[in-house]
Amino acid sequence: MKKRSLRDLPAEALAGKRALVREDFNVPLKDGVVTDDGRLRAALPTLTYLREKGSRVVILSHLGRPKQGPDPKYSLRQIVRDLERLLGAPIEFLPDPAQGVPATRQLPRGGVALVENTRFWPGEETNDPALARTFAALGDFYVNDAFGSAHRAHASTEGVAHLLKPAVAGFLMEKELKYLGEALHQPKRPFVAVVGGAKISGKIDVLEALLPRVDEILIGGAMACTFLVAMGLSVGKSLVEADRVALAKVLLARSGAKLILPRGAVVAPALDRAAESREVLVDAIPDGWAIYDIDQTTRHDFRARLLRARTIIWNGPMGVFETPPFDAGTRAIAQALVDAGVKGAVTVVGGGDSAAAVAGLEDKLTHVSTGGGATLEFLEGKVLPGIAALEDA
Ligand code: ADP
Ligand code: MG
Repeated sequence: MKKRSLRDLPAEALAGKRALVREDFNVPLKDGVVTDDGRLRAALPTLTYLREKGSRVVILSHLGRPKQGPDPKYSLRQIVRDLERLLGAPIEFLPDPAQGVPATRQLPRGGVALVENTRFWPGEETNDPALARTFAALGDFYVNDAFGSAHRAHASTEGVAHLLKPAVAGFLMEKELKYLGEALHQPKRPFVAVVGGAKISGKIDVLEALLPRVDEILIGGAMACTFLVAMGLSVGKSLVEADRVALAKVLLARSGAKLILPRGAVVAPALDRAAESREVLVDAIPDGWAIYDIDQTTRHDFRARLLRARTIIWNGPMGVFETPPFDAGTRAIAQALVDAGVKGAVTVVGGGDSAAAVAGLEDKLTHVSTGGGATLEFLEGKVLPGIAALEDA
C-alpha cells in the first residue's frame, strides 16, 4: 500500500505551518555524548526540506527505555548540540509537550523545536488518546519519518497520526517503504535472500514469509547450525536451538531446494582461540569445537549465487563478525552485494547487526534499512501500525 509522502504536499500546505515530525533519534550515548549520529543524519533530508519550505519544525522522538518518567539519562537534551551542528540551526528544547504549544507558535519559519523524550510520559507506550491529543496540538500536520519505531502503536507514532491531518511519510520512511516494499512485492528476479545471525527463533517468521517469494535463501550464521543438525549432522558445541530442530526439518522438507546451506565452516575450540581455527566440511566438525563463520568454499558458492541475482535482501551476519577473524565470511558477503549492485542488482540490508557489519559501504548498496525490529516485521509481511495510520497515496 503506497503512502502519501511529504513530497506530495503542496508548498502552501507547508509554508508557515507547524510540522510535527516523528523521528527515530534513539541514538547510542556514552556519558552524555552521542557515539553514532547516523540516525540524526538520516533525518536531515526531511528536516532540511521542511525548513527550506518555511515550515516550523517540531520534532518528537523516544530515546532508550526510561522506566519511571523523566530521567536525565534518557533526556533528548543530550542530542541537541549534535543536531544543531548537523542542521546548522539553533534548536528550541521543549521539556514538556503539555506546555509546548506557545513555543511552537512562536517558532520562526524554518525554526526547529525538539520535544523531550516521548517515553517520559506514561501514555506513550499505551497509545493513550489524551497524550496523542497533547502531541497533536504541537503541529498543524504530521510527518512520520521514524521507520524504526513504526512497528509499535504508540501515541507519537500511531495515535497522533489519526488526529493530525495530513499525516504523511517523511523521506526516510518513504525510502524504507520503497526499497523494502519493492523487494517483497515486485522483485526483479532472480531474488535471493541471505539470512544469518544468532537465532532461528527470532527469524522464523522472516524465513517463512520470504520462502514463497524468493528464488533462494542462503543460510549462514548460527542459524545454519540448527539446519545442519536437522540434516543429521553433528556440529560440536556450536550455537544450536535444540527446540527449533524439528521446525528446521519441516522447512527443509517443504522448501529444501530453495534453502542453500554452508558446505563448510570455520571452526575453533572456543571464540578466544582463533589461532587454532580451521576450515572443515560440515560433516567433519570436531567434537567440542564450534562453528564461528562460513568457510571459503561457501563464500565462493554464495558469491556466485549473489552475482546472478537481481534483487538481494540480507539480514543477519554469516559469523561472529564482532570477533575477527570470524568476520571474514560476513565481509565477503558484503563485498558480493556491492559487486552484484555494480552489475545492476538491487541490494537491501536490514537488521541492527547487519547494518553495523556493512558500515562504510552504505553508498555502494541500494538501501541499508535503519529499522531493527521494524525491518524484520516488515519482511515478515506484517502491517506496521505507524505506517498503516498514515494516509494512503
Ligand atoms: P541482526 O541484528 O542483523 O538482525 P542478529 O541479531 O540476528 O542480526 O545476529 C547477529 C549475531 O549473530 C551477532 O552477534 C553474531 O555474533 C551472531 N552470530 C553469527 N554467527 C554466529 C555463530 N556461528 N555462532 C554464534 N553467534 C553467531
Ligand atoms: Mg541483532
